[in-house]
Amino acid sequence: MTQPSAELLQRLLDILPSDAVLSRREDVAPYESDGLTAYRQTPMTVVLPHTEEQVRKVLQTCHALGVPVVARGSGTGLSGGALPLADGVLLSLAKLNEILAVDPLARIARVQPGVRNLAISAAAAPHGLYYAPDPSSQIACSIGGNVAENSGGVHCLKYGLTVHNILRLRGLTIAGEVLEIGGTGLDSDGYDLLALLTGSEGMLAVITEITVKLLPKPERAQVVLAAFDDLAKAGAAVGNIIAAGIIPAGLEMMDRLAIRAAEDFVHAGYPLDAEAILLCEVDGGNEEVSEEIMRVREILLASGSTQLRTARDDAERLKLWAGRKAAFPAVGRLSPDYYCMDGTIPRKQLPLVLAHISEMSQQYGLRVANVFHAGDGNLNPLILYDANRPGELAQAEAFGAKILELCVEAGGTITGEHGVGVEKIDQMCTQFGAKELALFHAIKAAFDESGLLNPGKAVPTLHRCAEMGAMHVHRGELKFPDLPRF
Ligand SMILES: Cc1cc2nc3c(=O)[nH]c(=O)nc-3n(C[C@H](O)[C@H](O)[C@H](O)COP(=O)(O)OP(=O)(O)OC[C@H]3O[C@@H](n4cnc5c(N)ncnc54)[C@H](O)[C@@H]3O)c2cc1C
Repeated sequence: MTQPSAELLQRLLDILPSDAVLSRREDVAPYESDGLTAYRQTPMTVVLPHTEEQVRKVLQTCHALGVPVVARGSGTGLSGGALPLADGVLLSLAKLNEILAVDPLARIARVQPGVRNLAISAAAAPHGLYYAPDPSSQIACSIGGNVAENSGGVHCLKYGLTVHNILRLRGLTIAGEVLEIGGTGLDSDGYDLLALLTGSEGMLAVITEITVKLLPKPERAQVVLAAFDDLAKAGAAVGNIIAAGIIPAGLEMMDRLAIRAAEDFVHAGYPLDAEAILLCEVDGGNEEVSEEIMRVREILLASGSTQLRTARDDAERLKLWAGRKAAFPAVGRLSPDYYCMDGTIPRKQLPLVLAHISEMSQQYGLRVANVFHAGDGNLNPLILYDANRPGELAQAEAFGAKILELCVEAGGTITGEHGVGVEKIDQMCTQFGAKELALFHAIKAAFDESGLLNPGKAVPTLHRCAEMGAMHVHRGELKFPDLPRF
């Protein structure tokens, strides 16, 4: 394990109390990975500031000494975005966890980055309001992490991703300069830096304050469970619902393996003989919900659903969702390890892509559980493997890479919500050409000339793309012709 220099340690201890600067192996070990535990790295030092001013001074110090910094929220990320660096400082924002203001009239809340996603809705609940984006990890993940990953969730089909639900950000560059971006109005001048910072995976700035939009809680919500004897029919039903002009508040799919795992774990009452289920929730005013539920049921039946169940009350509705929300840990009980992929495809391609994934599962000899935000076309195939069996992790990674490439071929993208991090950095070479990658590098340099904020994540170097040979040759034009081939 790399030890911090005496100068760095002393300067950090001048800023922070001694229990907020960790560098003993046993103290820093809990920070060695995020939710993508296949990748681990012991950080050189972990710092736990309480205030924005302390964060600013830590950044200034690291900048002055040329030490790389990785920001971390709750560490639930699934792409290795908060994976530490052996020679870097891991900057935890967990202690900046105050809800600074809730303004029910303006329907906004001002919060620090370490506030948990669900805590915002809890604080807004007495005013009949809530924060819409709801990643399945919402009990633990931080709003700062949500902004950095532009996180989504069940409700995002109707209410948008994180980027659509924030108004203003305050952040710090690696040099410790304060950035104030966005505003409480509907539009703000200049380039849309709010959108640029959202999803920037901790590479451009450290977010220290977020103003989020709050929405009124709908009068009523109702969910229908539809069972199918064929995955492709369930996939087609998703497109049919949206094509009918209905935007559900949630439209999720689970396949047989995921259904069985979730049922065994939560006893939600899922049909165990189904090949796939859809959970379709609609919300709004009383009459609107009744009417839409009827239409949804008709479409599901016409799409080949073998069994429909509409939750009779809120308790049953929440029970049906509990199975979906617990599906990841439930699948975790089926196999020693799983690898969660995250790609997005146009909805109409769902039947085809799911069939391909199933074929590849046979080829690679690894089981796959599908549980995902079907309405958004956001796939989350969970590849089951055993890290103790030689070569199985490599097989799972290769299989995962093929799934992402399939998403790109189907007209989609390599990430829907979990970010690129270290996990999907090579697939960025498949998704983007030289021009786009060069622009990404120029944007990074505009914020962080020294390249010290979260280096090595999200955007591959042009050499890396050339080395892995993943670039597609378009009309005979070789990308990066000036780079040597290996
Ligand atoms: C069981 C489970 C279910 C999940 N379900 C979903 C889901 O439905 N939808 C979804 O989108 N994601 C989901 N995730 C992934 C994850 O929870 C989200 O990506 C979440 O937004 C990460 O937040 P975090 O606080 O844990 O961030 P971390 O993992 O700590 O960090 C994530 C990234 O954000 C950066 N970062 C963190 N805080 C800051 C900050 N203040 N300033 C700048 N950069 C920062 C880090 O450097 C890193 O690159 C799930 C994860 C798990 C384990």
